[in-house]
Amino acid sequence: MYSISVSSELTTTGSFCKPPISLHRFSFPFLRYPFANIPKRSPATAIHARKRDPRSQPVLKPSIVEDVSMGDEEDDEEEQLLFDDSKDDASIEEDDYVKDEYVEAEKTELYVGDGAGGGGIESSPSTILSPHSLHGAERITEAINKPSSTMSTAGQVIRCKAAVAWEAGKPLVIEEVEVAPPQRNEVRVKILYTSLCHTDVYFWEAKGQNPLFPRILGHEAGGIVESVGEGVTDLQPGDHVLPIFTGECKECPHCKSEESNMCDLLRINTDRGSMINDGKSRFSIDGQPIHHFLGTSTFSEYTVVHVGQVAKINPAAPLDKVCVLSCGISTGFGATVNVAKPKKGHSVAIFGLGAVGLAAAEGARFSGASRIIGVDLNASRFEEAKKFGVTEFVNPKDHDKPVQQVIAEMTNGGVDRSVECTGSIQAMISAFECVHDGWGVAVLVGVPSRDDSFKTSPVNFLNERTLKGTFFGNYKPRTDIPKVVEQYMNKGLELEKLEMFITHSVPFSEINKAFEYMLSGQGLRCIIRMEH
Ligand code: NAD
Ligand code: ZN
Repeated sequence: MYSISVSSELTTTGSFCKPPISLHRFSFPFLRYPFANIPKRSPATAIHARKRDPRSQPVLKPSIVEDVSMGDEEDDEEEQLLFDDSKDDASIEEDDYVKDEYVEAEKTELYVGDGAGGGGIESSPSTILSPHSLHGAERITEAINKPSSTMSTAGQVIRCKAAVAWEAGKPLVIEEVEVAPPQRNEVRVKILYTSLCHTDVYFWEAKGQNPLFPRILGHEAGGIVESVGEGVTDLQPGDHVLPIFTGECKECPHCKSEESNMCDLLRINTDRGSMINDGKSRFSIDGQPIHHFLGTSTFSEYTVVHVGQVAKINPAAPLDKVCVLSCGISTGFGATVNVAKPKKGHSVAIFGLGAVGLAAAEGARFSGASRIIGVDLNASRFEEAKKFGVTEFVNPKDHDKPVQQVIAEMTNGGVDRSVECTGSIQAMISAFECVHDGWGVAVLVGVPSRDDSFKTSPVNFLNERTLKGTFFGNYKPRTDIPKVVEQYMNKGLELEKLEMFITHSVPFSEINKAFEYMLSGQGLRCIIRMEH
């Protein structure tokens, strides 16, 4: 007999989903023959299994043990080998777990989380998940997918797959995670589609950002509410939603202001790895908390999000397409139409022709701009950009003078508006210095490195140039995004254009390919299908 581990932290927030069937019989083939569609851990991708340490095993509350006991005493030789508790019955103290201890080795003793006081297995590098419960998670998921099912997962911990970033720059590993129920003002969302934005890549690389690992990244997604926590009144299970990386509490001065989307409570916070309710994570693996990212962590089949970061949308909207409205496309489009506000006939320079920049270009076309100048270091972007209304191209690499000077010469003194969508500090400075004096407005969108600082002559301001910046295109996530989705549905913003941003699609098991596409500058958005 064995039991499923649970962190003591999690047991305070909910109880386990009782697996509908005895799991362990099904788990051994999985252990030996990992799912073909789950990438193998290889030495190159690093194995990060918590070193088994008796102290690291969280205590199972008796009721939970009862809940998850398999009851089948079948004396399988292999089972004995894998789940032999007798070797290790060290005393365990509640809450006493090793947080940050990983081993990186070809052969790792993988903690399987036997809460009853033992249970290490010898695992080969190809062993991806704890063997005992994936099938349970899948069955739970299946049950949720069947409307006729009477099974409810509300209030229970769900085990599901998530792509975990264990270390900076190392491929994500599909792991089985435990997702605690939503607490007060939180909702748990079943993610159906998610996509990769460059912001995820920065925090995964952690070159110019604070490293926070292990972490579940992801913030551009669409899904369905699975359950809601206490106090949530405007969302219910079954609602179609877009989780958004910045929130709207609807009560603070920012939310009440027509001008701001910088909610006091829920504005973007890249360094927070937990939920604001209690400062804890809703994700764990064998009791070890896994950090959240931007309050969304959409690279998981299930995630918990504050209700203020969830936009409820028309259920008829295709989630595999409108998911990109939850970050990149709304950000770029909004940066132009809501912040730069070009007038009909204006010239607009767009720095960076990725999805965000091309959405900004689309905003310029939508506003009636007569010239849209695309600036990118990657010349392969130019062909694609023509489809989004970009009329001229400048590659800074082709010139031996600063790109702002090139643009000023092209436009008789500077563009009327510019929108920077690169994350490069140099491009930010150029985007500001290329706008026309007297009326030019530059808008920064790219996420800079932690230590960047902006340097320009104050005379550029005295000469009446304006510099602005924005998160999420100044949209209020809950109030505005449902309307933006409606606009797309009513063809006001051309749904076909939305599809043009989606250049790749991969199953969840191949999520690392999405990173490769972005790092090599291929395509715009890669949709990751969660394949429930
Ligand atoms: P992307 O990688 O798809 O596109 C960025 C483009 O910028 C690439 O084509 C790249 O070649 C180009 N580029 C990089 N450095 C350049 C330079 N110095 N000059 C000219 N071009 C340059 O990324 P994306 O997903 O479109 O995101 C773009 C930026 O927007 C990122 O910095 C991202 O973090 C940021 N972002 C900000 C917000 C926000 O709310 N402010 C939201 C989403 C994304
Ligand atoms: Zn983003």
